[in-house]
Amino acid sequence: MSKAIYCDKCINEIKVRDDLVTATYVFVVVPYHEECYAKDLKGAKTFFLDNQPLNGFSGNLFFLFSIILAIIWCFIAEPSLKWLSLFAITPIGYRLYSYLIYERHIEK
Ligand SMILES: [Zn+2]
Repeated sequence: MSKAIYCDKCINEIKVRDDLVTATYVFVVVPYHEECYAKDLKGAKTFFLDNQPLNGFSGNLFFLFSIILAIIWCFIAEPSLKWLSLFAITPIGYRLYSYLIYERHIEK
């Protein structure tokens, strides 16, 4: 069930959950070491790399916020505008993907 997760920058294995940072890079979820993520954020990838990590406290908060927003929007929006809640569902999808593909494979 457990599989090795390799950092997108230095190609080394990420062994501890605390050291894992996932972020979207041109719509693709990529895993990083915390340190490597910080380096890439300042590097050439900065225009495409999302500076908001998917995991960790801020990611989880954003995830929760997106769910609430999607639900509220479904109730209050005009019927013709309900499709806009899809925009709130996108980060929810990324967050779940990050967890299923990377986070659950790494020990805490
Ligand atoms: Zn790394």
